[in-house]
Amino acid sequence: MAGRVRVGIGYDVHPFTAGRPLVLGGVTIPYPRGLGGHSDADVLTHAVMDAVLGACGLPDIGTLFPSHDPRYEGADSLHLLDEVLRQARGRGFRVVQVDCVVVAQEPRLADSLPRMRQNLAARMGLEVDAVGLKATTPEGLGALGRGEGVAALAVALVEPLEA
Ligand code: MG
Repeated sequence: MAGRVRVGIGYDVHPFTAGRPLVLGGVTIPYPRGLGGHSDADVLTHAVMDAVLGACGLPDIGTLFPSHDPRYEGADSLHLLDEVLRQARGRGFRVVQVDCVVVAQEPRLADSLPRMRQNLAARMGLEVDAVGLKATTPEGLGALGRGEGVAALAVALVEPLEA
């Protein structure tokens, strides 16, 4: 499996729900609603994990961390990312770079992006400039545009550990 650089893509979406904190990239964003889901519903970290897993030829997070498994109820997704990185190393890969987009009509995320980026970089042992992070709005289009949830996309580049 190892031997060359590989890429992976991840996508995730979660609906807003009342009574939950909004956690993106491990950062709690001041906002009246959070995202619903079995774990902490950190949609950005979930997209990053699936990108890394895809690059390594590993199963997706739904397979690794099943939503029916009580161990992952309310789980801190950064801890799940730690496990994904362990599995990547087990396959002989390390993460070189990730690039991400968060799609949200609201809240405005510009002020929180640097902390989210630093969090993800630190967790993956990367320089901050190896983690790209953008936020965009869906311009009012569709369910995301009506502010019903947040989506995230990520790509990840991995290389063999011995490289
Ligand atoms: Mg998810």
